[in-house]
Amino acid sequence: MSKIAHCPSYYAASANAAPARPALQGSVAADVCIVGAGYTGLSAGIALAEAGYKVVVLEQAQVGWGASGRNGGQIVHSYSRDIDVIESHFGRAVAEPLGRMMFEGAQVLRGRVTKYGIQCDLKDGGVYAAMTTKKVHQLAEHQALWEQWGHKDLSLITDKSEMRKLVNSERYAGLLVDKTGGHFHPLNLALGEAAALERNGGVIHEHSAVTRIDRGATAVVHTAQGQVRARFVIVACNAYIGELEPKLAGMSMPCGTQVIATEPLGALARELIPSDYCVEDNNFLLDYFRLSGDQRLLYGGGVIYGARDPAHVESIIRPKMLKTFPQLKDVKIDFGWTGNFLLTLSRLPEVGKLSDNIYYSQGCSGHGVTFTHLIGRLLGEAIRGDAERFGAFARLPHYPFPGGRYFRVPFTALGAFWYEMRDRMGI
Ligand SMILES: Cc1cc2nc3c(=O)[nH]c(=O)nc-3n(C[C@H](O)[C@H](O)[C@H](O)COP(=O)(O)OP(=O)(O)OC[C@H]3O[C@@H](n4cnc5c(N)ncnc54)[C@H](O)[C@@H]3O)c2cc1C
Repeated sequence: MSKIAHCPSYYAASANAAPARPALQGSVAADVCIVGAGYTGLSAGIALAEAGYKVVVLEQAQVGWGASGRNGGQIVHSYSRDIDVIESHFGRAVAEPLGRMMFEGAQVLRGRVTKYGIQCDLKDGGVYAAMTTKKVHQLAEHQALWEQWGHKDLSLITDKSEMRKLVNSERYAGLLVDKTGGHFHPLNLALGEAAALERNGGVIHEHSAVTRIDRGATAVVHTAQGQVRARFVIVACNAYIGELEPKLAGMSMPCGTQVIATEPLGALARELIPSDYCVEDNNFLLDYFRLSGDQRLLYGGGVIYGARDPAHVESIIRPKMLKTFPQLKDVKIDFGWTGNFLLTLSRLPEVGKLSDNIYYSQGCSGHGVTFTHLIGRLLGEAIRGDAERFGAFARLPHYPFPGGRYFRVPFTALGAFWYEMRDRMGI
């Protein structure tokens, strides 16, 4: 069987060394079988292996091959729809427990990096950037909301010279600084988490695509050359689930977003982002960027509904980068790649069970770095018998996309176009 390699990203080119993890052969038993070695699967696996469970992870490609090894590497708190939207749609009782957890994912992530000494260029500090006065008001509302929920370490800056000390671009009318945000090398985080799981006795089989999951008190998870018999299964395949569980695929839509990496910029790098914080703007279709450990600018943005792989990533993202930093017009782009995140209609994660002992979590809708770390912990709690916090997410309704598999792409693109127009008008 041919092996699926990492996409040609800057992250793959600068990945830490990792052991070969052979494909599953034959029949093995486990307490928990996890399908997918992204942050969701690895985070849950660590939580369970630390608690003494025998964990086997099956990954169709390699650790971190999906969004977890390709993303912007930005630590963003809360959920893709913020807690005020959750409260207004579903009421205070539903929002309350989620609000109490909205900053916990970043703690899980940082805790793992510290505990296991993961080398992933982790740096503190993030910035949300607004391009118009109206958008600055939205940042102020954002600050007030997070403060209500206990996050007191935010500051809103509108003075131009102060802003330039953080992000040296003419583009912005205001910056909301979050010292508890941050950024890191995403693939190296995934590889470090895989090693942490293995240190706790977990086993990871790469190149082991799951083809079928048989339900039952002991579930049987099949690959081409083997099976895992397990008391519990976690499906953590997100945007790359394909045909494995049609119910999960039907409630969500894979979307592509693209990233480029410049050549190393030397001293120019800190002229662009003197703070070395990560940055994302607060447009509906947002741009996100930061410096890498070796002083490249990593710049991402754009959304392709339905997740086709574009042929020329650089031609899509470079113009966005030059709007923010025109001084980079002669700089060479060394890497360009695409990755898929999973959009849900509500833009809230979909969490639940397919049967008594088969769990799933998917659909962070673009902001999944912290949520995947949180939900890994909550999946661990649920399987160990305390499903209260997991249940707080599982209670959120899941909606099918209008238009089904054929028309969900144009319908969603049409909706997004409306928001994009509003952003262009600065409202
Ligand atoms: C380009 C990009 C930039 C992003 N930037 C940010 C950011 O800066 N901050 C942020 O918060 N979020 C960001 N996100 C979102 C974030 O990366 C994701 O929400 C998160 O990584 C999802 O993790 P996951 O483990 O659920 O899924 P994934 O990391 O996609 O992992 C799923 C895994 O399941 C495996 N799999 C699928 N089917 C099977 C099968 N049948 N058998 C075995 N294995 C299977 C896949 O190979 C894959 O490795 C970004 C996403 C992308 C694509």
